[in-house]
Amino acid sequence: MTDALAVYYYPGTWDWQRDLRQSLVQKAAYRSLADAGALRELGRCSSFLTCYDAWAVTVDDFAPVKIGQDVSALVRDPDEPERGLTTPDGSGVVYACRVDLLAVDARDEYWVVRHELRSEHWRPMTELLLDEEALAACWAWQQDYIGMEMAGTIHNEIRVDDTRSLPADDTATDAAESVAQHSASGGGRSIPQHVRISALAARPDDRDRIEQRTAGPIRRTRIRRSRAEIAAAGRAIAVEAIEMTRSPAVYPSPGEHCVECEFTKPCQAMFEGADPEALLASGFRRHSAGERNRPRLGQATWGFGRGAAPPNW
Ligand code: SF4
Repeated sequence: MTDALAVYYYPGTWDWQRDLRQSLVQKAAYRSLADAGALRELGRCSSFLTCYDAWAVTVDDFAPVKIGQDVSALVRDPDEPERGLTTPDGSGVVYACRVDLLAVDARDEYWVVRHELRSEHWRPMTELLLDEEALAACWAWQQDYIGMEMAGTIHNEIRVDDTRSLPADDTATDAAESVAQHSASGGGRSIPQHVRISALAARPDDRDRIEQRTAGPIRRTRIRRSRAEIAAAGRAIAVEAIEMTRSPAVYPSPGEHCVECEFTKPCQAMFEGADPEALLASGFRRHSAGERNRPRLGQATWGFGRGAAPPNW
C-alpha cells in the first residue's frame, strides 16, 4: 500500500487522467507484492486501491510536492541555539526522517502528510495531537529547507482491513477542492518556494486547528501546528540526543512486541547470561551497502541548486 500510495501521489503524474495514473498505481502494487512474495494478496489490494482513488478524490485538496523524501536536520544545542549539537568525539548530531508526502494547498500552505495503515480502529485525537514523529518531521523539514514554514500535519489513516464497507468505485460524487500540480499553488515548482502575497492575503483568520473528514476507510485529519509547537519538537530531540550521546546505556525492553522480534533467540541467550555471538554469526548477516541503497520512487539524489554533488560522485 505504501509503495502504491507513493505512485498515487507522485507529483509528475498528479495531473494525468485518473485512469492512466491508476494503471501505474496498480503496477506498483503488483511489483511490490511480487517482491515480497505475496501475490496472493493482489486481488484484495487491487480492489482496495481502486476504491482508495474513489474516496481520495473527495478529500484530496492539495497538490503533492515531494514523496518519500529523506530529510536530515542538524540538531541545535538547546543551550546555544546558534550552534549545532556535537557528540563527545566532535561529530554533528543529525536527525533523519522520511516524509511520506509533502503537500501544498491552494493557499500556499505546506503540510507534512503521513500515511498510516490501520486495522479496526482510528487513532484517538489525543494521540494524533501528540504525534511527536509528525511534529519532528515538520521541524526537520524547516531545518533542512531554510525559509519554508510547515502549516501542520495531515494524518491519512487508511483502514486496510475494513473490507465490509468497500463500495463500488463510482462513489466519488462530492469531489474535494482539488489543486492541480501545474497551477500557481500546485506542487510543480522548486522548493524552497516563496508564498505568494495573494495567497497569503486570501487565508482566512479564523481557521480551525483541527479539520477531519472521513470517506469510507479513509480518515483525513488536518492539524495546524504553531511555531512554538514545532520549535519545541526540535528542542525535545536535542535533549534526547544529549542523553543518548552522553549516557549511552541502552537496556532491552521486553514486552508483547518480543513475539514478533527477529532477535528473540540471541536476546534470550543474553538474558540467560550466554554469549549471543555464535547465534548472531549463524543466523544473521549484515545488510550489504547495495541493499541499503536500493533505489526507490521519490528518492532524492542531490539538488543542483543547493551546492556540490555527493562526495563519491
Ligand atoms: S526479544 Fe527483541 S524486542 Fe524483545 S527485548 Fe529482545 S531484542 Fe527487544
